[in-house]
Amino acid sequence: MEHVTTTGPRVVVIGAGVVGAALADELSARGWTDVTVVDQGPVPATGGSSSHAPGLVFQINGSKTMTRMARYTVEKLSSLDLDGEPCFLQVGGLEVATTPERLAELHRRHGWATSWGVESRLLTPAECAELFPLLDPGVVLGGLHIPTDGIAKAVRAVEAQLRRARSRGVRVLERREVLDIRTEDGRVAAVVTGQGEIAADVVVCCAGIWGPKVAAMAGMPLPLTPLAHQLAWTGPVPGLEGHTEEATLPILRHQDADLYYRQRSGGVGVGYYGHRPMPVRPEDLLPVDEAEVMPSVLAFTPEDFEDAWTETRRLLPGTRAVEIDEGINGVFSFTQDHMPLLGESPDVKGFWVAEAVWVTHSAGVGRAMAEWLVDGHCSSFDLHECDVNRFEPHQLAPDYVLARGCRNFVEVYDIIHPLQPMEEPRPLRLSPFHARQRELDAYFLEASGWERPQWYGANARLLEGGDIPAPGDWAARYWSPIVGAEARASRETVALYDMTALKRLEVAGPGALAFLQRLTTGQMDKSVGSVTYCLLLDVDGGIRSDVTVARLGRDTFQVGANGNLDLDWLHRHLPEDGSVVVRDITAGTCCLGVWGPRARDLVQPLTGADFSNQGFRYFRAKKAYVGAVPVTALRLSYIGELGWELYTTADLGAKLWDTLWEAGQEHGIIAGGRGAFASLRLEKGYRSFGTDMTFEHDPYEAGLGFAVKMDKGDFVGRAALERRKENVRRRLTCLTIDDPVQVVMGREPVYDGDTGVGYVTSAAFGYTIGKGIAYAWLPAALATPGRTLEIGYFDRRVTAVVAEEPLFDPVMERLRGTGEAR
Ligand SMILES: Cc1cc2nc3c(=O)[nH]c(=O)nc-3n(C[C@H](O)[C@H](O)[C@H](O)COP(=O)(O)OP(=O)(O)OC[C@H]3O[C@@H](n4cnc5c(N)ncnc54)[C@H](O)[C@@H]3O)c2cc1C
Repeated sequence: MEHVTTTGPRVVVIGAGVVGAALADELSARGWTDVTVVDQGPVPATGGSSSHAPGLVFQINGSKTMTRMARYTVEKLSSLDLDGEPCFLQVGGLEVATTPERLAELHRRHGWATSWGVESRLLTPAECAELFPLLDPGVVLGGLHIPTDGIAKAVRAVEAQLRRARSRGVRVLERREVLDIRTEDGRVAAVVTGQGEIAADVVVCCAGIWGPKVAAMAGMPLPLTPLAHQLAWTGPVPGLEGHTEEATLPILRHQDADLYYRQRSGGVGVGYYGHRPMPVRPEDLLPVDEAEVMPSVLAFTPEDFEDAWTETRRLLPGTRAVEIDEGINGVFSFTQDHMPLLGESPDVKGFWVAEAVWVTHSAGVGRAMAEWLVDGHCSSFDLHECDVNRFEPHQLAPDYVLARGCRNFVEVYDIIHPLQPMEEPRPLRLSPFHARQRELDAYFLEASGWERPQWYGANARLLEGGDIPAPGDWAARYWSPIVGAEARASRETVALYDMTALKRLEVAGPGALAFLQRLTTGQMDKSVGSVTYCLLLDVDGGIRSDVTVARLGRDTFQVGANGNLDLDWLHRHLPEDGSVVVRDITAGTCCLGVWGPRARDLVQPLTGADFSNQGFRYFRAKKAYVGAVPVTALRLSYIGELGWELYTTADLGAKLWDTLWEAGQEHGIIAGGRGAFASLRLEKGYRSFGTDMTFEHDPYEAGLGFAVKMDKGDFVGRAALERRKENVRRRLTCLTIDDPVQVVMGREPVYDGDTGVGYVTSAAFGYTIGKGIAYAWLPAALATPGRTLEIGYFDRRVTAVVAEEPLFDPVMERLRGTGEAR
């Protein structure tokens, strides 16, 4: 290959596992061919996790992105072969239920499949056994069949993709351990190996379980935990005699017992997640030549497999006649949220990672990374859940990473409720209002490490005489009728909402205005005291975040953001002249939403500043004192009521709470939790980034065109929006549900007749309007008010009607206020 002319920057991919190989293939397919893949082991069976993975590809996942990456992997590997040998065996996938809860979960998973466009079908026990004759149909209650699932031949896929990459000029260097990453002026310069340096403009770490070790060479903490997982192979099983093909039976999952299975000719492979977590430190992995089998394979511990084998014999009676022939404790990567780690180091330019990726998603990740590197953004998949820069500082702490990695191993097949908080390690971050909230018997869930009240037990008194409709079982978890009572009281009196968990950034310096003009869709060149709701867009016009920007001084802005990715995005775009500084001020500050028709009656007497309707207009900011507490007040409300967000420093938070609480008694003040907040926000149609819209959607589709000021001059994403504006084919649409029991929760499919046409994003019961609310992505042609559709909810169909939005106070009377009393 020495004679092929290479193009593009000098790229070094560390790791020739299934991820590195996919990336080399995808990069070279896009014309970046000056690529060197380096591996410490022999290629293609390097000794990494890909070398021994049984290769089961179950595509269905609660995440749209992960499902679509898996689908791409299936499509790509199905089209690849190595000297005529297939890289994918499309035997189908079968997930079985042995408990009623799991059966319901399979219905939910069928819903996800429909939402994300993967064909699937629910089966009776007899149909399961027909598909997988080794099964005892008496043990299972039903199943879910995904015909396009199958087995990836990982080592073959590595070789096939590398071969294709080599033909385009990519170099593959085996048995070369990377020992260091050399950087210059905050950029990668070279990869240092035992056999010399390789100069590089871009380095991508695809080192699997060694990822933390390699990333540390570039000074980057990588929150990943390698854990051992048991895989065993049986001898020939009665019923499979005479099977010469590698596999014809579908891959099988028995998640109630943390088990999965695949056929290997006459035998069966059994994978198990039910054993104790067995974390492995990357630095303890043996070198390739010292490992008995390979570095990622540890000795099988039969005592950890006993329950798995007992259960296997129950489910697959044929295995009672055989024994385990061989087994391993194979090591692969876990993260704190089950999602991969993709993206560029925040500190070292040109150092990228593609880590914690299953074989299942490998080709999709290869494609995503190649697009990101070559085009500057990924257009095929929304990567906001995968970006390695999504974490808060505490989420990088080694103790936290280990605890969460182990927990996620335990939970990998568990049924997880959408609101289920992590239990360990908690509590972590406490707002200054925490003690007061406990006094009010708050029921806490968790958000970015913050303890956040979902409702307050003390508000049970509000239930008297009220008739709060109760949702069905699933939606009733992490719910109390108090949620409804708090929502109603917020529309009737005044409520305090703890908004501390929301990310707050300060953007300051002589270049701050120009910087925000360029990065947001809003007009920032307004008077001091202005507040602007606007968006951060990617170059392709996709929404990266929605933010509320308050101009607090000529050169000082406060940005209400969504998370660490916003901070990272702003940092990446800072001008090099040092004229702008962006700081995360979240931890040192706090925020209370003081909202409701009595908000002015409460706050005005506590302050010398003018909080009247004229003196403090909607979407304006002002510095003031509330009692003894200096605050920055922003007149806006996510719940659609009169009121302010009051910000102060953390040390004065409790005093602010007490001042408002005491004075609020005569106005019937309550504390409101996140449950009420979610309901009220949907009644007003306020979108939530990450749930309702993500990187893949543009503002016009999302109903946020009003936040884009095309006439303000150029900004990131503007050119792309010019094109996208005229081409709106899908819309984020408001649906209402009359039946109060059927409160859907998000990600459910929407049907027009029998055809899946979209999916739900956020949903809640609207206690003011007395209906269920579901926002959903739908084809624009169907998003017409009055149209009746159905939402798939477990084994039911729920009738939903497209509605005009917002559902509550469309003329904004409450927010803008008219009389002084309001
Ligand atoms: C028992 C078991 C069963 C599994 N079953 C499945 C399954 O059914 N389906 C599924 O989707 N996934 C499965 N997985 C997970 C899957 O195998 C891995 O997630 C995947 O193979 C990781 O691919 P990778 O390319 O990131 O890592 P790897 O394949 O480990 O590749 C990383 C490469 O980096 C190289 N490297 C590391 N450090 C250096 C260095 N300093 N210098 C040079 N080279 C270096 C290594 O030699 C290695 O080749 C399983 C894993 C195990 C352990």
